[in-house]
Parts: sequence; structure tokens; C-alpha cells
Amino acid sequence: MLKISYIQAYSDNYIWLIQTNEGNTLVDPGDAGPVLDFIQKEEIEINDILITHHHFDHVGGLKTLKSLIKGSIIGPESKNINDLDYKVKDGETINTIGLEFSVIEIPGHTLDHIAFFSNTEKEVLFCGDTIFSGGCGRVFEGTFEQMNNSINILCRLPKSTEIYCAHEYTLSNLIFAKQVEPENDELNHYYDEVIMMRENDISSIPTTLNRELQINPFLRVSNASLRESISDKLNDSVQLSDTEIFKFLRTWKDSL
Ligand SMILES: [Zn+2]
Repeated sequence: MLKISYIQAYSDNYIWLIQTNEGNTLVDPGDAGPVLDFIQKEEIEINDILITHHHFDHVGGLKTLKSLIKGSIIGPESKNINDLDYKVKDGETINTIGLEFSVIEIPGHTLDHIAFFSNTEKEVLFCGDTIFSGGCGRVFEGTFEQMNNSINILCRLPKSTEIYCAHEYTLSNLIFAKQVEPENDELNHYYDEVIMMRENDISSIPTTLNRELQINPFLRVSNASLRESISDKLNDSVQLSDTEIFKFLRTWKDSL
């Protein structure tokens, strides 16, 4: 039986805890403190740790947790991450607590960014800071083209895939998304839902790929109605590429 829950860290990070009857695996423990509190309280041991990229709020807990776990720390080929036991590349498969995960390289937010996808029990994706609900990560190290390509790779996963991203940014992302597509009914409806969830302190994550394809502007750069709704902001006599639309949206959001 697969169970996925979060341990909250910093102001808006989710450290994901994957549990099966074979054990417990963490994703991106950026802070050891809340993890230690949790495992003490729940009396569980950690088997493995999966890492998506090198930012401190994803790897900050490794030094402390390394000596406490039963298994391995698995992450991307990266000179910026210490403490990894196994470095994995695109297309490789790893096993943890009875689940098989495929590794997908998704550079853009950072150059070393990877995602972990499993369909052993159901389709689940751990994508760090690449796709957020209603938005995407900032393009820090890669190019806009790389980031757009990486998002497209994830968009080809099954639509029922549950997306476990690393931050609760949904509400502010949706406020931006509504500026991009004010007449997107699914988006407006989902915004109202998320307002209610957040007022009741309910996490908006996981989301699903199916939902994101309907409401997330960064996954909709080739969508005709998105292009139509931003045409007044662009010179629409020019046929812009998907990457150019992506760059326009990401730059617009960064400027807010
Ligand atoms: Zn990051």
C-alpha cells in the first residue's frame, strides 16, 4: 500500500515521505529538523532519500540524515551535491521500498534537475521545482528553451499522474495564471477551490497532470486560447514559437 505525505519545512517547502509496507523514503529533505521530529514522533526509520536538484532547500538535511538512514541517497550527477551514494542519469531506473522509479532529466531551473516517476502502484511524479501547481520554477541555470522542453517531457506522462512538487506556491501562481487567461473557466473554478483549501490550511499538492494541462499557463504555451488571450500583449502579427511564448510568460511573472 502506497502512502505519500509531506513534512513541512521552511516557509513553503514540502519534504515528501513515501511509505509502503517495505519502508519509508524521503524526497528532497531540505531541513533535517522537521524530519527528525517526525520520525521520532512516528517511530519510523528512513530507508532511502531521493534528491531532485542541488538547491539548499532540497539538500540541506542530507549531512545530518546520511548517518541515520538504512539505505542510500540517490540524486543527479552534480558537482553541487555532497553526500550522494548513487548518481543517476536520464532513463535509469531505481528501486526503493518496493517501488520502481524512472529518472527523467529536466534541466532548466538548475542544470542538474531530475524528476522521479513511478507507476508501480499508481502514477506519481516528484518533480522538485520544475512544475508547480499553476506555475513553474524560475529559470536559474538553464535556458528558457531547456525549461520549456523539460516541461514538455513531463507533459507526455499519463494525464492521471499525480504531481508532487516541492513548494506550496499554488495560490500566487493562480493569481498570475488568471492574469494570463482571465476567461479560462477551469482555472477560475480551481482558483476558488484553492482559496477554500488554503483558508482551511489544506495542501493543494498533489495536483494532477490532467489539471495542470487545463490551468497552468506554462504547460499551455501552444494552446490556442492562451495565445489568443495574450495576443494584445504581443505583436500577434508575428508567429511566436512555443519557447518564445514560454519566455514571455516566465519573464512577465519574474517581473511581478
Ligand atoms: Zn530549486
